[in-house]
Order: sequence, then C-alpha cells, then structure tokens
Amino acid sequence: MTPDERRAELAESLAEVRERLAKACRAAGRSPEEVELLAVTKTFPASDVALLSDLGLSAFAENREQEARGKVAEFAELRPQAAPRWHMVGQLQRNKARAVARWADVVESVDSERLAEALARATANALDAGDREHPLDVLVQVSLDGTTGRGGATPDDVPRLAEMIARTSDLRLRGVMAVAPLGGDPAVAFDTLLSISERLRDHHPEAVEVSAGMSGDLESAVAHGSTRVRVGTALLGGRRLTSP
Ligand SMILES: *Cc1c(COP(=O)(O)O)cnc(C)c1O
Repeated sequence: MTPDERRAELAESLAEVRERLAKACRAAGRSPEEVELLAVTKTFPASDVALLSDLGLSAFAENREQEARGKVAEFAELRPQAAPRWHMVGQLQRNKARAVARWADVVESVDSERLAEALARATANALDAGDREHPLDVLVQVSLDGTTGRGGATPDDVPRLAEMIARTSDLRLRGVMAVAPLGGDPAVAFDTLLSISERLRDHHPEAVEVSAGMSGDLESAVAHGSTRVRVGTALLGGRRLTSP
C-alpha cells in the first residue's frame, strides 16, 4: 500500500470512529467535546502515527515500553513540529519506570503503590536531567473482573493508592482507567467504574478523567461517563501480533 492509500484508509476509519462517537454522545445527551479520542497505535509503525497526526489527532497510546520508546523517537523525526501527548496504557514493571518517564506524558496503568513510587522517583530524575518538562499525569487502573491478573488495582485499593499519588509532587492524579472484563457485560463494568470515579472525585476533585471504551465497546463507555476512549483496531485495522 502506498502512503497515499494508507492515508485515505486512515482518514476513512477516523471519520467512522468520529461518527460513532458523535452518535454515542448524542444518545447519552453529552457533548462530543467531553470525550477525547485516544489512538492506540501499538504494533503499528510510526508512519501511521504521523498520518493520524496529519489528520488531526494529537494523543497516542502504546502498551509496551520498548516499542513505544522507539516509536516516539521515530515520530519526532517524521513530524518535528507536532507535539502529541503520549500515553502508556499497558501493564508496567517497576524496572521500566525510568524509561517510561522519559517519553510518557500520561501513564494510565498505575495499579500499585510500588509502581507509583517508582514512577514518582523516575519522573523527579527525568525532570532534574531535563528529559521532561512536566510532572507525570497518572490514572489509577481499576480491575473490574475481581482479579488483578490482567493489571489493575481492586476497587477497594483505589482510595489508598489515590491518596499516595496525590501526596507526591511529581505525579498528578487525573482519574481512573479500566478495560471491560472479557465476556462480561461492558455496561455493568463501566457503571461500576463510574461509581468508583465519583467516589474518588469526592476526595480528589481534580481526578476527572474516566478512560474507558475501546473499539468494541465505546458506545457503552460513553453512555457511562467515559471522558476518553482508547481506540486501536477501529482506527488502524487488525493487529497481527496478539496484544493484551
Ligand atoms: C490495545 C488496547 C486498546 C485498544 O483496543 P482496540 O480493541 O484495538 O480498540 C485499549 N486499551 C488498552 C489498555 C489496550 O491495550
């Protein structure tokens, strides 16, 4: 496929996703400006990110540190004038905190105090070294399937983790993130997430973001208060490698 053909393909899928989002917002009585579209570019090349940037997107997400690091650098060479926001949405080992703090603007997958501590330290170091300019925005990832196997803190652990994050000066608590459990009803999961978000905001009014909804369930997420949908497949096509 030529770059022009790929560009046309991405433009078409972007228009379709925007239309789905607009419809979902209308159905929920919400304004489309309330829901951000985050493009999940994992497994796709930096050239695709560049085309999506040309088409007006300015926030991209990755789920593996090493893949992301290279893509962020490559994108910066392809589009030196663009300044997109990069999100980490995948499960993160503490030993990757240093590396992530050099490229991520937002980490959506914070699910333990130990990880939060490692990210706070890494962010402080990156700020000192001039490798980043701002504190790190973080979301608490919540597990909604009763286990923590696929990442995420249990709902009971959210208040303590949020407290800890809010006390650090290098992390900024921005809200919650979740993936709907496989096989379950996403509406039930997103409704639970919304209650967790509402309780969190009682104590942390700045934590307004609810990152919920993917290609298959974004309508349901928007109906339940999502402020950011993370869309991969519906924008970029099927992924050859399996990714969580
Ligand atoms: C891959 C991924 C997505 C995007 O999923 P699609 O079904 O391809 O839209 C969203 N969130 C997370 C955490 C992911 O890993």
